[in-house]
Amino acid sequence: MSASIIDGKAIAEGLRARLKEDVSAFGANGRAPGLAVVLVGSDPASAVYVRAKARQTAEVGMLSFEHRLPGDVRQDDLIRLVETLNRDPAVDGILVQLPLPAHIDATVILSTVDPAKDVDGFHPVNAGRLATGDTRALSPCTPLGCIHLLKSVRANLAGAHAVVLGRSNIVGKPLAQLLLGENCTVTIAHSRTRDVAGVCRTADIVVAAAGQPEMVRGDWIQRGALVIDVGINRIAREGGYRLVGDAAFDEVRDRAGAITPVPGGVGPMTIAYLLQNTLKAARQRSCDAVT
Ligand code: NAD
Repeated sequence: MSASIIDGKAIAEGLRARLKEDVSAFGANGRAPGLAVVLVGSDPASAVYVRAKARQTAEVGMLSFEHRLPGDVRQDDLIRLVETLNRDPAVDGILVQLPLPAHIDATVILSTVDPAKDVDGFHPVNAGRLATGDTRALSPCTPLGCIHLLKSVRANLAGAHAVVLGRSNIVGKPLAQLLLGENCTVTIAHSRTRDVAGVCRTADIVVAAAGQPEMVRGDWIQRGALVIDVGINRIAREGGYRLVGDAAFDEVRDRAGAITPVPGGVGPMTIAYLLQNTLKAARQRSCDAVT
């Protein structure tokens, strides 16, 4: 049996089409939601992401504000820009593109963003809200996308044993919280876990977010298990590179019930959920303004 392929590109397109309608309904109140993206320096991969975010923001009918700062910007100047955006009523979401240059403390910058506008979901207030099951939480976009993809093949995840490979603040930890919220039994495996393969063999769901090319092998996967591959790894090949995930796709496909491809799986969902979070932030802010 070969796994069904979870088409993240198509699912993200559907999500954005629905969002466009919701944004238009929100706009009937008099204003469109606005997303500000801050890009520091000239990292080419970050520039590509920021362009894609700006284009998709405009496509769903939201306002896109882009702020580019030189790579040697002073931390205080970046903080001042974030504080200005915090006060700007036209801005509902603020995203500071990571990674930041080494002389800037990302933790300080991310904590400066108003939690009500923290559409990346990285502020400690939002991490706490997610951990305590507070529905006002703005949760990180990639984990939200993973849950959506899982539910596209299994609407009810309750009782499933989910193994998350990776414990980063951006993917692994928030994803584990969201899976708990779906009533899964959750195991987080990481670089110090003994027998990661054995842990995966007990899973109904494996979400691989370790950043290790093709680490998850076919014989790690129970027959019929769902596999979400978050990893994006560049592998050199003649004259360029190709992208691979954290799962050895062909082997895992032979055993899994469903699997996401790389590219075209989790990646497109991340921006779609950034837009979804921006709309959620706009709705929550307009309710707060009324009450
Ligand atoms: P990270 O480097 O911050 O964290 C990696 C985690 O994997 C760590 O917690 C580490 O303990 C764990 N790990 C490393 N080696 C391991 C091993 N051999 N076995 C088990 N666990 C191991 O990375 P991140 O930011 O969480 O990203 C993870 C991957 O997901 C990367 O490939 C990244 O490019 C990708 N990513 C994709 C998207 C997307 O939109 N598709 C978004 C964010 C990250």
